Amino acid sequence: MRRSLHPTLPVALAIALAGCASVPAAGDAPVAAHASIQVDVPAVAHPGGEDAAWWFRSGAAAAAARGAMDGRARNVIVFLGDGMSLATVAAARVFEGQRRGAPGEENALAFEAFPYTALAKTYNTDAQTPDSAGTMTAIASGVKTRIGHLGAGPGVVSGDCAGTPANTLLTLLELAESAGLATGIVTTSRLTHATPGALYAHVPDRGWESDANLPADAAAQGCRDIAAQFVATPFGDGPEVTFAGGWGPFVPKGLVHPGHGDVGGWRLDGRNLLEEWGQRHPGGGFAWDPAQLDDALASPGPVLGLFAASHLPYELDRNAASPPPLDVLTRLAIERLQASGQGYVLLVEGARIDHAHHAGQAHRALAETVAFSDAVRAAVEATSAEDTLVLVTADHAHTLTFAGYPRRGNPILGLVQGPGAEEPGRAADGLPYTTLGYANGPGHRAARPDLSAMDTAAPDFRQEATVPLGSETHGGEDVGVWARGPGAWAVRGTLEQHALFHVLVQATPSLRTRLCEAGGCDANGVPVELPDPARFRAAR
Ligand SMILES: [Zn+2]
Repeated sequence: MRRSLHPTLPVALAIALAGCASVPAAGDAPVAAHASIQVDVPAVAHPGGEDAAWWFRSGAAAAAARGAMDGRARNVIVFLGDGMSLATVAAARVFEGQRRGAPGEENALAFEAFPYTALAKTYNTDAQTPDSAGTMTAIASGVKTRIGHLGAGPGVVSGDCAGTPANTLLTLLELAESAGLATGIVTTSRLTHATPGALYAHVPDRGWESDANLPADAAAQGCRDIAAQFVATPFGDGPEVTFAGGWGPFVPKGLVHPGHGDVGGWRLDGRNLLEEWGQRHPGGGFAWDPAQLDDALASPGPVLGLFAASHLPYELDRNAASPPPLDVLTRLAIERLQASGQGYVLLVEGARIDHAHHAGQAHRALAETVAFSDAVRAAVEATSAEDTLVLVTADHAHTLTFAGYPRRGNPILGLVQGPGAEEPGRAADGLPYTTLGYANGPGHRAARPDLSAMDTAAPDFRQEATVPLGSETHGGEDVGVWARGPGAWAVRGTLEQHALFHVLVQATPSLRTRLCEAGGCDANGVPVELPDPARFRAAR
């Protein structure tokens, strides 16, 4: 072991930092100095020299330099707020506070109490402003890749089926399964959507959700759709618990269920992948209606709950027939994983923050963000900072802006009214304006309307947008990362997004040891070499 304590710091400063070691941070073990390990990363020409192996090593170096190898996490929970930009976080905390009758600005979302924070750079290898597939692949595989790729490295171009096998990346879920850990996925999107798909699928196009979406040449070359890849996972026995929407890509088009009519299947090959999943997991429990959830949870095997043909409903559209909210699903998943008696890796995604932003509907995005925060709180309450690393982040930003000079406590979805003002302020055109807006999207209007005559807090209201686009776009700025638990101390400074994978793996001995068994570690035990997925294809 060749470790040094903060080798780049002057001795006096290192001692001063060590002197702070006994100051406890809220919700975490006392802050201590952690060994910084040096990993050499070759200088490459950008972007041409950035191959998958280089990205993997550079991410490992960033995590090891921040002391992640000192982590002793047993469990890992990743919370992914899809499209949860920093403006979204700030507005959502005010929104949540105001729902309780407070001014709001002083409020904090659950993860804002975490002791460690960082900023993450989200770009894809070929895109300045990224998408959810490339970004989640970075977080899930430790390799930054192209826009639209799931579990496939930057060495293959979009849609190239034949080039994908040689560029397949090992994912966090596959690594965990192969290390004998339990795994889980909880999301409000379709299970085949980009964020959950990055944990188990390997495709050069995120659109290949069912066979109906798979181009004929890709099918002829042997590529399988994302839903089929979920059911066929060759890594261990697959997730122990999965709660999501999106049974559509798993069942045949035209499938009729007694009493429910056409269930909204997508598949053209006639396969019912949910039946196939049941055959692969004889002790498993499936639920497609919340009323079946208790029975599914009573089964001895893995649990798969898909509660909608497509995405789960927005929080603001919740009714008595809706599936349980994200915090309840998160708690159920954690209980299931804890009962396995093994360490576990769990992904929880608040997927519809992103969808609401694309629609230019800030109220919906903020309500989804608060529900996401509630899920984080549920996980914190159900786990211990002694053994569970909880990391909260977003895959990418959006163009939401939080602007003007509204007074303290001004309704976050309302018109800007300044401190001491008797009525909303007027823009240069004589019309009022809202605090929240978008740089682009469907909220663009040819002429500015008089918003004082509109309900700007209605769920379907679209905030004004500068540039007309049918769908509001992602934003290219950094996103926040919040962490608590063993290894959380490595979450600081500005990180390339793919380094988050390395923080998680290095801080969890069962995961990093599994990579070392396959021969990918340096003399300090740091996993530095791009893993070959073929070496992990059997559970131990
Ligand atoms: Zn999006």
